Amino acid sequence: MLQKSRWVAIPALAAIIVAMTATPAYAHDPFSGASEPTEPYAQPVDASVPKRGCATVTTTPTAPPVDTIPAIQIIYGWHASEGNNYDAYVERIAKIVDRVDWLLDESSDYDQHINFSCRYTPNNTYGDYARALVVPLQLSIPTPTGSYGDWSAVGSALNAAGYDDAKRWYFVFTDAHVPSGTNTACMRPPAMTSGGSSCWGTAELWDSGVVGHEMLHLLGAGHAWSQETNQPYWADIMYGWTDNWMLDQDFNTNYDPSEPAASFYRDNANDPNAYAWNVARHPVLTTPVCCDVGHSGDLLTAQERTIEADDPSGTPTGFSVSGGGWFQVTPSCGNNALSCYYYDNRRSLQMNVQPHAEGKVSVTSKKAVTAGQSYKFYARLRSASAGNVKLRLSWYNASNTWLSDNDSGLFPMATDWPERTLGPVTAPAGATQVQLSVVSPAGQAFSYQLDSLQLMRCNPNCRAGM
Ligand SMILES: [Zn+2]
Repeated sequence: MLQKSRWVAIPALAAIIVAMTATPAYAHDPFSGASEPTEPYAQPVDASVPKRGCATVTTTPTAPPVDTIPAIQIIYGWHASEGNNYDAYVERIAKIVDRVDWLLDESSDYDQHINFSCRYTPNNTYGDYARALVVPLQLSIPTPTGSYGDWSAVGSALNAAGYDDAKRWYFVFTDAHVPSGTNTACMRPPAMTSGGSSCWGTAELWDSGVVGHEMLHLLGAGHAWSQETNQPYWADIMYGWTDNWMLDQDFNTNYDPSEPAASFYRDNANDPNAYAWNVARHPVLTTPVCCDVGHSGDLLTAQERTIEADDPSGTPTGFSVSGGGWFQVTPSCGNNALSCYYYDNRRSLQMNVQPHAEGKVSVTSKKAVTAGQSYKFYARLRSASAGNVKLRLSWYNASNTWLSDNDSGLFPMATDWPERTLGPVTAPAGATQVQLSVVSPAGQAFSYQLDSLQLMRCNPNCRAGM
């Protein structure tokens, strides 16, 4: 999907200025307006950003040998209208690339990195590494005007110059007036597992927010769910790249390094050909390894988070119900593949509360915990009706004997999908397992929907609720 950067708002204004004042023609400054995203917390200063380095070396960047590993090729695309500023920019480009690798790794408590291709084996200096990583290429296209036609011409120029290898995904820092974007053809199977002529993206404005957003599109990430379901501005680089550097903090849209085989359906409402993907298994990424320090994490399975395995109106796999109520996968409203209401993917769980007793929906499988460490439970809840529910963490020992519960306060129902949380709560002495439940106190009769569950270990910390 072709994506605009913040910079895209500029061309119309520039054209007006030129017309009215006859000032000199547009001059591209890739750092004018660029600013590193600082949410959910500040990025390290330049000197502390880990150098990703060269994962593979290909002496002829346009023709990698067949035994190369899949990798991203970084290109500095200059144009005669702006001149060749390679020496002035190359180290800054490399630093942004390092930051994108950092933000992917830092998004979760898994260790995972991007494989980049270099054109020679660099020495130990940063300047030599940057020059090995970033390949200069003159873009042989007409003087760009900032239109999407100019953008398409970049792909043609890449292919004409020989950048079309199946083991490479190409990312171009354009030093000319070309919109930031990623070729949608690369976001469809089989291009996600085999790169080549269609797999390229561009950034006209250079910071890790814009470049990370487009590079993650290049790896198959769509936009954050809130755009489909008309939720408010969403804290995610795939929506709010100006402020946020993290990818999919609730592990339910694009990226689940804890379960790379899991897939997420996306953009159902807008795309009849919506398909499933998980960036964590992209071939240019290293295998994710648990556990390090990162912004988010999750101890549930993809099914327990998203309730996707069962047809609408079926029984939710992996969940149990007891007390006052019965449950089902949320029924459809005409499209048999989609529940009538869902927060992520295509389906959610519906609890039909009955008044005779407390009703309880639980994730059947208890999750391993360590006594003394703290945990946080997140869930999104909605209802068309008034009602109150609470979240519960139930602690068990190794003999599967119940020890104690921690309950949240009561949450009133809302028609959208607010995220509700419980915790951080410290696992009590003797606890080795925890069970997650959503509880409706007795005396109520209404139905609610539940989606996007998450259980996070909070040592050293865990993400804030939304
Ligand atoms: Zn985008």
